[in-house]
Amino acid sequence: MDNESAFIHEMMEKVISGSDLNFAEAERLIKTTDLNVLTQCADNITRTFNGNRVDVESLINAKSGNCPEDCHFCSQSSHYKETGIKVYPLLPREIVLERAKLAQESGSKSFCLVCAYKSPPDKDFDLICEMITEIKNTLNLDVNASLGSISREQARRLKTVGVKRYNHNLETSESYFSHICNTHDFGDRFSTAKIVKEEGLELCCGGIIGMGEDTKQRLELAFSIKSLEPDEIPLNILMGRTGTPLALQPRIDPMEAIRTIAVWRFIIPKGIIKIAGGRELNLKDDDKTALKSGANGIITGGYLTVGGNTAEKDAAMIKQIGLTT
Ligand code: SF4
Repeated sequence: MDNESAFIHEMMEKVISGSDLNFAEAERLIKTTDLNVLTQCADNITRTFNGNRVDVESLINAKSGNCPEDCHFCSQSSHYKETGIKVYPLLPREIVLERAKLAQESGSKSFCLVCAYKSPPDKDFDLICEMITEIKNTLNLDVNASLGSISREQARRLKTVGVKRYNHNLETSESYFSHICNTHDFGDRFSTAKIVKEEGLELCCGGIIGMGEDTKQRLELAFSIKSLEPDEIPLNILMGRTGTPLALQPRIDPMEAIRTIAVWRFIIPKGIIKIAGGRELNLKDDDKTALKSGANGIITGGYLTVGGNTAEKDAAMIKQIGLTT
């Protein structure tokens, strides 16, 4: 075994025995020339702590666009007028319920209700709580939510109506945050994620790679996420959306994305690292490789403002690589 391979195996043993990687070790891993060994060891860590199951989740964009924030990657920001997305207020209850039913029928175990708000207004929040109560009473699905910044009281209420997990991403590292958003800061995102955790909801907290950040900043983001002890970590790969400031950002190389996923698994050994937005566009068939390199979750059936693989296609892919849902 050469030095490089020996170091990766040493780091894997360290993580499997319950110790944390430090920043310098993560930096050496992400620069490795032995991507095969890195991904195999990341897969071993995944299997040790998380088994063979792939978490498959469906989303509904229950309120689209008109968000007052200026996140440079987001086509739902009201700062960017030419994005061509559908803009609509909170969907009626019947449509949300129907979509939840379809998600269950297509094999999803969880359903995430997503709304583009800075923070949810009271009237919409009440309606959302009623919808979630009805889904929980009529279907056998975990219900998750992503409604922007929420207060402690709102977090408590979501827990009471049966929300399992709340999503609030850090998006990018603290040192890069001002390059991708100017209407709020990293601290605002971190505080909401902390409230979610402190109020007893499971936390889903991740970010986006490929927005111009450097490799070190991808690690910085992973260590910030780890400090929040999330249950699920969505890793999005930028899809440069028309009309946004990042529309022409060059696409990340698929192997660079896989290398990042693998090292995130070394940093965060337990929990669902979910390849989220940008999977189909950036990874294409390499999504199989990603699920054998540290990731153990996917979003199926499309994203907030763009389509994706069908649930059937994803289920077949998971079976083909010997994993289960
Ligand atoms: S807060 Fe969320 S919905 Fe609003 S612009 Fe930023 S990412 Fe988009």
